[in-house]
Amino acid sequence: IERTLVLIKPDGVRRGLTGEILRRIEAKGYALAALTLRSADDELLAAHYAEHEGKPFYAPLVEFMKSGPVVAAVVEGHRVIEGFRSLAGATDPTGALPGTIRGDLGRDWGLKVQQNLVHGSDSPESAVREIGLWFPGS
Ligand code: ATP
Repeated sequence: IERTLVLIKPDGVRRGLTGEILRRIEAKGYALAALTLRSADDELLAAHYAEHEGKPFYAPLVEFMKSGPVVAAVVEGHRVIEGFRSLAGATDPTGALPGTIRGDLGRDWGLKVQQNLVHGSDSPESAVREIGLWFPGS
């Protein structure tokens, strides 16, 4: 069975959308295999976002991700990587289609980083790597 790492970013937790986002994941038919609320530090975020180091939004992204607790979940199901990305919608919440998490619940707040509520792994290799980072020892 395929697994993906889902994060509810600090904006989602702060706005009280944790339940709504988990509800959508479960309503789609995916299962929660692990779930935790934690604060991310520089070391974890540098590893998680290594591919973005050097980009203009990297520093604001790391600051944003440290601005409050994050919900991390391992979600499982057949084709869940693709399925969760479809549930999440496009990266830019202003353009994300209605019906998606970002399209229904997010918008542009005029900040340097897109506060787009969720993260989902983008490939099986990323999923294994990211689950190892957020759930060490799993
Ligand atoms: P996607 O679902 O599109 O892959 P993602 O979360 O994987 O979204 P990445 O391209 O990996 O997106 O970027 C990581 C995060 O960095 C985004 O979710 C968003 O919060 C932020 N980000 C990405 N691109 C920009 C940008 N051009 N300006 C500001 N913030 C950005």
